[in-house]
Amino acid sequence: MGIFAEDTGHEQVVFCHDKPTGLRAIIGIYSTALGPALGGTRFYPYASEDEALHDVLELSRAMAYKNALAGLDLGGGKAVIWGDPDQLKTEALLRAYGRFVDSLGGRYVTACDVGTYVPDMDVIARETRWVTGRSEQYGGAGDSSVLTAWGVFQGMRAGAEHLWGTPSLRGRRVGIAGLGKVGRVLARHLLDDGATVVAYDISERALAWARTHHPEIELVEDGTALITASLDVYAPCALGGALNDETVPLLSAKLVAGSANNQLAHPGVDKALADRGILYAPDYVVNAGGVIQVADEIEGFNFERAKLRVSRIYDTTRQLLAVADADGVPPAVAADRLAERRMAEVGRLRTILLPRTHTSTRS
Ligand code: NAD
Repeated sequence: MGIFAEDTGHEQVVFCHDKPTGLRAIIGIYSTALGPALGGTRFYPYASEDEALHDVLELSRAMAYKNALAGLDLGGGKAVIWGDPDQLKTEALLRAYGRFVDSLGGRYVTACDVGTYVPDMDVIARETRWVTGRSEQYGGAGDSSVLTAWGVFQGMRAGAEHLWGTPSLRGRRVGIAGLGKVGRVLARHLLDDGATVVAYDISERALAWARTHHPEIELVEDGTALITASLDVYAPCALGGALNDETVPLLSAKLVAGSANNQLAHPGVDKALADRGILYAPDYVVNAGGVIQVADEIEGFNFERAKLRVSRIYDTTRQLLAVADADGVPPAVAADRLAERRMAEVGRLRTILLPRTHTSTRS
């Protein structure tokens, strides 16, 4: 795969190698139009270098769009470390990686992703300050699922208002696929709002949690039973690809809003949803609570401020649904357009020259 040949639109792609520790990492910076490129580090045993490169290019581009629509003064980037974390992850490897992150001088800020955890960020931080998602004793914000669920709830409220004229979920039947960290908090917001929650999880432990703490949640026997249940809203909160050629024709819900990343199995699915009259609140917009939280941590974490920022997902979702209607395009396309517009409009402001001695909040 050739980066220039494919014209991926990335600003910078950095290959990092440290033979003694076995570190092979690729840092992808898609855009710094809005600020330093923020995105996590994925530590994963890719089958090939091409696969690792493909992933980092896709993920870093997605972060630019997500951060832009989350209203952050941050661009989009992502990194992958190629290898099995169980075998390769050592203090020396993580610190070697930290030195490469540092060498970018703040153009890229890293955080956790699949295969990397909060304690790993603390190790990386011994070599660079360009890292967030740290442990609470180092000023970190801790578990991001609480604010992620709050953001999904806000996106769902905006979808409800668009469809039914009121942002309340009172009296609606909401199906949650996946009662994990996010799904459980989301279920509580919905119950508090007066909704009926129907749910399914493959894990017996998650089901036991529901039976013990919220016996009012209606549990169904499998994923298909959930999709085909009589629902107003469907909230995929488990894995990616929940919306595909098999599931969309079966859905009874009129609104989809959930936390899972990459819910559309392929780009054509958003049209299939629209053809069935199902409103889709794009995943990367409504699940931005986690990234808003780690971004807030860069300034010194403040939960109330972060929550306020996450609450704006309601306005963003409303706005993009209105744009989708006005432009006659699916919501996912409208979301991309709004993100591109913000990157262009706000990014352009840096062409206004500031005196050299002047210290701007946005350099
Ligand atoms: P989690 O691992 O705590 O929960 C996922 C739950 O889904 C688990 O209980 C699991 O048993 C269940 N599950 C797996 N496969 C399933 C299936 N086929 N059907 C039904 N249930 C299934 O993860 P989480 O932190 O709650 O995140 C949920 C989703 O939201 C993930 O896709 C994650 O990438 C995304 N997300 C999470 C955050 C965050 O801050 N935690 C932020 C953005 C996006």
